[in-house]
Amino acid sequence: MAEDKKNILFVSKEDLVLFLKRASGKPFVATQINNWIYNKFVFDFDSMLNISKNMREILKQNFFFDLPKIETIQKSFDGTKKYLLKLKDDMFIEMVMIPNPKKKTVCISSQVGCARNCKFCATAKLGLIRNLTVSETLGQILLVSKELFPYKLTNIVFMGMGEPLDNYENVLQAIRFIKSEDRLRFSPRRVTISTSGVIPGINKLAEENLNIKLAVSLNSAVNEKRNEIMPINKTYPLDELKNTLLNFRKKTNFRITFEYIMIKNFNMDNSDIKALRKFVGDISCKINIIPWNPVGNLTFKSPSKYEIDEFRNKLQENLNIAITLRNSRGQDIDAACGQLVAKKCQGRDNGFIL
Ligand code: SAH
Repeated sequence: MAEDKKNILFVSKEDLVLFLKRASGKPFVATQINNWIYNKFVFDFDSMLNISKNMREILKQNFFFDLPKIETIQKSFDGTKKYLLKLKDDMFIEMVMIPNPKKKTVCISSQVGCARNCKFCATAKLGLIRNLTVSETLGQILLVSKELFPYKLTNIVFMGMGEPLDNYENVLQAIRFIKSEDRLRFSPRRVTISTSGVIPGINKLAEENLNIKLAVSLNSAVNEKRNEIMPINKTYPLDELKNTLLNFRKKTNFRITFEYIMIKNFNMDNSDIKALRKFVGDISCKINIIPWNPVGNLTFKSPSKYEIDEFRNKLQENLNIAITLRNSRGQDIDAACGQLVAKKCQGRDNGFIL
């Protein structure tokens, strides 16, 4: 029996009902199990106290829970919590929970490391180690839901480690899972995929009819500058990206969010604003500006508060769209993606230095 144990997260309610009918003649236990897992976030059969001890033993013999382990939790003074999660192969990923009075947002990872090599990013230093499985992706969402309980998780953003569109099938599968009636019933409109601009992935996503939100890490609307900090721009340059996004907008309901990291003396002058205006002009969108969060020994510079305000005001004057400033939350806990894992791996002498 042991070899045939199934990951309970992947067992549909119908299959669970069938199993329970055969094993005990008590199909209603399926509803109790789902209630424990998806409403109370209990991931251990022994704690499912309204299920008989005998039944719990049967469940343990046939199913298992497969969730990442919380290695450390760092709490910021602003309530942000950063989780270092350990996977079965001893790899680490990060997950960040960002609470505010109205929303409880989790920022999750899609890969261990990343292949896209953005020059300002800590995760890039790891290179791509591997894709996360569906179970590891789901696992992050369930773990954070348990942490938040009795509050409910309201938003999920794929803005942690990795490029979600480079792990397309697993990310989409995880979203379909959390959406399903028998599981979290989590609305895809509260899920955002953030991409460095993987055009084939965006095109595929446009055809999915899933109603999720898309964020694009733009960071510069000048090709030469974007080439410099985001090598993906050499494969998928700005004009092609723009056509792809115009097409995406025709097929989906939501405005696109552009993320724009502000790097001092690099992408914040008048010519950058002019290029940005030209690029986003006819795309229905909003822009999220983010001060670059210092990473290890990288030589980029973060802008001062004055420079941020000046840039923001100029953008507002020149562009007729919503501009939001993402306060760098959790700065005291290395909340910029990849920083914690990079430090951890540095300690294990994996050959890269931040
Ligand atoms: N690969 C995806 C998702 C992961 S990066 C993407 O590129 O969108 C998530 C966001 O974090 C991106 O907008 C990226 O530009 C930003 N980011 C990465 N390193 C950062 C840093 N050091 N400071 C501020 N933002 C950073």
